[in-house]
Amino acid sequence: MIQLIPFNQPCVVGGEEEYMQEAIACGKLSGNGPFGEKCARWLEDQLGCERAFMTPSCTAALEMAALLTEAGPDDEIIMPSYTFVSTANAFALRGAAIRFVDIDEKTLNIDPEQIQKAITERTKAIVVVHYAGVACEMEEIIKLADEHDLWVIEDAAQALTSTYKGKPLGSIGHLGAFSFHETKNYSCGEGGALIINHAPLIERAEMIQEKGTNRAQFSRGMVDKYSWRDIGSSYVISELNTAYLYKQLQYIDQINEDRKKTWNMYARELEHVIALDAVEGPHIPGEAGHNAHMFYLKSRDQNERTELIDYLKKNAVMAVPHYVPLHSSYAGERYGVFTGEDRYTTRDSERVVRLPLYYGMLEEDVHHVVKQIQLFYQV
Ligand SMILES: *Cc1c(COP(=O)(O)O)cnc(C)c1O
Repeated sequence: MIQLIPFNQPCVVGGEEEYMQEAIACGKLSGNGPFGEKCARWLEDQLGCERAFMTPSCTAALEMAALLTEAGPDDEIIMPSYTFVSTANAFALRGAAIRFVDIDEKTLNIDPEQIQKAITERTKAIVVVHYAGVACEMEEIIKLADEHDLWVIEDAAQALTSTYKGKPLGSIGHLGAFSFHETKNYSCGEGGALIINHAPLIERAEMIQEKGTNRAQFSRGMVDKYSWRDIGSSYVISELNTAYLYKQLQYIDQINEDRKKTWNMYARELEHVIALDAVEGPHIPGEAGHNAHMFYLKSRDQNERTELIDYLKKNAVMAVPHYVPLHSSYAGERYGVFTGEDRYTTRDSERVVRLPLYYGMLEEDVHHVVKQIQLFYQV
């Protein structure tokens, strides 16, 4: 009997602990130290952005984005319902009203046409989510935002190293947020980054990250003591985490190549399953360069999905569903409302099955997963 193939295994490239030891020896673990700086400068180089701030999570980065855009009780924020809770939470925490809109059935990304219909006088920002590391239609979205003078925030939690028309995701909106949670391609257990592409936001971001103080200016010798200047919170990640993360950033090509290999095997070997009537696989638009974050199938309906997941589990494969649409969750009903028609969000969220995919996944395990799916569908 084959051992259970997990859905995810946190990435370890080897050598992470050496950098952690270096951080310990350096005697400064609190954050924005040598390794934090290395990670931030690495991101700035890769993305060509104004500034990168290393945060304890993507959730923290999104909260910083909500504070920076001064989202408040008079504002509406447009986002997909098919996303992780943090996308909405960050703005609900500021008292803003969440306006959920429908997704595109091919990519499961927010649909620009639905955004347009949801814009009102009170709209303040559009938060896009690049689902599975596949780019949203940014050109249309930026155009809408420009026309209506709105902030664009990219929840790029899953999308580091992915691109839209050759441009790195996270570098296109005013702000971008990445995650280094252990379920993401490159990780340090818990971690994140806020990307600033709009320079006027940098000075406040430095304060918001440091509990609302001008400690960053103090560290640069610009002021002789630091004090409370703004609202803020504890949005700095520890050096232990950025030391771990920096090793993975240095090996990012190797990680991408390995994940791509698995993703491509799934795409190739599941071709006949995906060709079945009403079964679908991931769709990658021509403008999108993706980072192999996720491989999913869409079963015919929820019942078939339950049967497929159960069948795979019995045959040593952990496959998992994904988001319950936020608008139909307990808190989502309280803090937001779905605007427009829910044609695909609920329907397709009930069909998604994510397959095991992680750094170092054995080829024989990929074949096993494929074989079980073929047996289930009898192709
Ligand atoms: C993982 C994820 C987050 C949260 O990331 P954390 O680093 O765990 O806070 C937010 N949004 C999306 C779309 C995610 O996939």
